[in-house]
Amino acid sequence: GRVVSGYSTSAGIENPINPSIKVHCTQLLINGNFVDSASGKTFPTYDPRTGDVIAHVAEGDAEDIDRAVCAARKAFDEGPWPKMTAYERSKVLFRFADLLDKHIEELATLETWDNGKPYEQSAKIELPMISRIIRYYAGWADKIHGLTIPADGPHLVQTIHEPIGVAGQIIPWNFPLLMFAWKVGPALACGCTIVLKSAEQTPLSALYAAKLLHEAGLPPGVLNVVSGFGPTAGAALASHMDVDKLAFTGSSETGKIVLELASKSNLKPVILELGGKSPFIVCKDADVDKAVELAHFALFFNQGQCCSAGSRTYVHEDVHDEFIEKAKARALKRSVGDPFKAGVEQGPQIDSEQFEKILRYIRSGIESGAILITGGDRLGSKGFYIQPTVFTNVKEDMLIAQDEIFGPVQSILKFRDMDEVIRRANSTRYGLAAGVFTNDLDTANTLSRALKVGTVWINCYDVFDAAIPFGGYKMSGQGREKGVHCLSNYLQVKAIVAPLKNPAWI
Ligand code: NAD
Repeated sequence: GRVVSGYSTSAGIENPINPSIKVHCTQLLINGNFVDSASGKTFPTYDPRTGDVIAHVAEGDAEDIDRAVCAARKAFDEGPWPKMTAYERSKVLFRFADLLDKHIEELATLETWDNGKPYEQSAKIELPMISRIIRYYAGWADKIHGLTIPADGPHLVQTIHEPIGVAGQIIPWNFPLLMFAWKVGPALACGCTIVLKSAEQTPLSALYAAKLLHEAGLPPGVLNVVSGFGPTAGAALASHMDVDKLAFTGSSETGKIVLELASKSNLKPVILELGGKSPFIVCKDADVDKAVELAHFALFFNQGQCCSAGSRTYVHEDVHDEFIEKAKARALKRSVGDPFKAGVEQGPQIDSEQFEKILRYIRSGIESGAILITGGDRLGSKGFYIQPTVFTNVKEDMLIAQDEIFGPVQSILKFRDMDEVIRRANSTRYGLAAGVFTNDLDTANTLSRALKVGTVWINCYDVFDAAIPFGGYKMSGQGREKGVHCLSNYLQVKAIVAPLKNPAWI
């Protein structure tokens, strides 16, 4: 089973920018084959630049999830994947990473076409991160081992780490391929089999990457990809009795739903990567020009559609007025347009729902007394483009300071002293990340320990190396992904205990 049979080639839709790159994979990938959904239904996926349909994709539902889980179960229970040597598994992942590098242009084109993010970002930033994380976990596959433990009695105690079984993985649309890699890399390295549900807004790149993974030698049934909607396919996966682990990235609201479905079915353990409302704190000693640039990046990167977005910019009163003038100028300079054009920093938002939601938050900011200093409206009349928007005079009790807007809307808040900014920065239900901008070591140490968040970036932001653990405090999630920490999500620890001598029990 080295090659997927029955490639999905029905679509063959031409890309308007690069006609040689076509959408080929539109069916569900189950047990190593591209197949139609059981119902025969499809759903459209749209180009956010125009709102036009790119392709119709097979729509998976509970029955397809069940077929996919059966295939993953069989591939786990009967092998060969979990029973192969770890070295063999690592070689498949290394070959996959090489194929990702070889197909950067196709993958980056699909990603930008389906998601709207700048092509240069897809090709030069994200695709290299994606093959890097696959290589990182390929390297771990043959380095997972247990311990021998000294016991009180005359016993030999060993622990062995076994793959947890069938992993259900549900991913969002903001970084479709990166989230695919964060999920499948560690699960495959540990020897698990997978049913992955991509986001309904961005089904294309995961299907293509899964095809490459089969070309790299993945046996059939080890990775099954089901495109479809949350309340149908996603809920069926979260509640399936034969899924041993659930990994979810998305909103905190949906996180609560999947956790409940998991507990009501078979109590499968769940890892959650959820939303954020991360503070970016500019201290009084800051070089204002540099702070403005980094705070701008922290919020506006990926159209503001990052769970880690630095969406509350706290600025010390001594530098506040200079900061807001420069933040406004920087936002006005941001180049927004067709994400396939070179030099464009910001493309359209993902879809009309998110677009409308962001515009509602902007209206709410104005109504609640925040001062709009630039932006605030859509850009053009076609597609889902929004002007880079900056609010000042933002207060914690405003909705725009509490909710995840997930768009290009920067909220600036003024502060006076350290205790105050710590209290205010910690005053949301989220705890994903924080940025600290200072040259003062005491300030950096104090803030980085006082903030109740999973990641603190000091004088940098959104550094996402494969080896750095990532996850949230509070309602931003449970557990950690990336790094060595992620392996434990996909492993069971078994203790094996035997007497050191006189082995037979009398
Ligand atoms: P969502 O959480 O609803 O979707 C994420 C994934 O969960 C998708 O694959 C979706 O199909 C699936 N899903 C939805 N409902 C489900 C259910 N009942 N059971 C199982 N799976 C389900 O997010 P969204 O609706 O696409 O976006 C809404 C908001 O979520 C955004 O505005 C943003 O604030 C936030 N968001 C956060 C992240 C993040 O990385 N933290 C990513 C995407 C969206």
